[in-house]
Amino acid sequence: MLKVKDINVYYGKIHALKNVSFEVRPGEVVALIGANGAGKSTTLKTVSGMMHSRTGSIEFLGEDITHTPSHNLVYKGLAHVPEGRRIFQQMTVLENLEMGAYLHKKPTREELKDIFTRFPRLQERRDQVAGTLSGGEQQMLAMGRALISHPKLLMLDEPSMGLAPILVGQIFAIIRELHQSGTTILLVEQNAEMALQVADRAYVLESGKIALSGTGHELAESDSIKKAYLGG
Ligand code: ATP
Repeated sequence: MLKVKDINVYYGKIHALKNVSFEVRPGEVVALIGANGAGKSTTLKTVSGMMHSRTGSIEFLGEDITHTPSHNLVYKGLAHVPEGRRIFQQMTVLENLEMGAYLHKKPTREELKDIFTRFPRLQERRDQVAGTLSGGEQQMLAMGRALISHPKLLMLDEPSMGLAPILVGQIFAIIRELHQSGTTILLVEQNAEMALQVADRAYVLESGKIALSGTGHELAESDSIKKAYLGG
C-alpha cells in the first residue's frame, strides 16, 4: 500500500532522514519507534507531502506520490493525525468532525453514527467546544476527524503523548479495533511497549536511520530493544 524508498530529508543543514526505506501492506499496523528526535514525525510529514525528500521515492496504492501536494493526498485516501492533535479549538466536536468530511461537503448520518459508535465520548460531547475536551478526548476527536473521510491509510503521530495511563490504554484499544476492522495504520510512537504490542511489524529509527525492523513480537523480545526502549 505504501512503499518508501531511500528518502533523505533535511531541515537546512540538519540531515533528518538518511536513506529511510520501509513499507506498509494492506491491513497492517506498522509502528515506527525511536527516541526523541530520531526522525519519526519527519517521516510522516514527508509521506503526507509536508516535507520533501531530496532522493528516492514514495509510492501509495501503486502510484508515485513523491511530488504530490498534501491536499491531493487527502483525496487519494491518506489521513495524517499530527502530533499534538491540531483540532479546531474554538469549534464544537460536531463542527470538527464536519471539517474532516469536507471532501464530500457534509458527513452523512451513517458516517457520524459510525464515529459516535466508535467514540461514544464524542457523542456525549458533540456540542461542546473542542478546546475544553480532555487530552484523551481531543485525541479521539482528531482520530474521528481523520476516519470520517474513510482513509485507506491512517497515519497517527504519537497518539498517546501526554495522556494518563488509563487513556493511553483506551487509545490503543481503539487502534486495535481499527486494525480488526481492516484499517491500515502507520503509527509513530515513543511508547514502544504499547506500539510493539499492537503492531504487526515495526521499524526502529535511530538518528534518522532505520536501525532495525521485524514483527512487533520479534522486536519486543529483542535484547537491544528491551535495553534501549523498554526499560531493560
Ligand atoms: P519527536 O518525538 O521529538 O517529535 P521525532 O523522532 O519525531 O521526535 P523529528 O521531529 O522527526 O523526530 O526530528 C528529526 C530531526 O529533525 C531532529 O534532529 C530534529 O531536531 C530535527 N527537526 C525537526 N523539526 C525541525 C525543524 N522544524 N527545524 C529544524 N530541525 C528540525
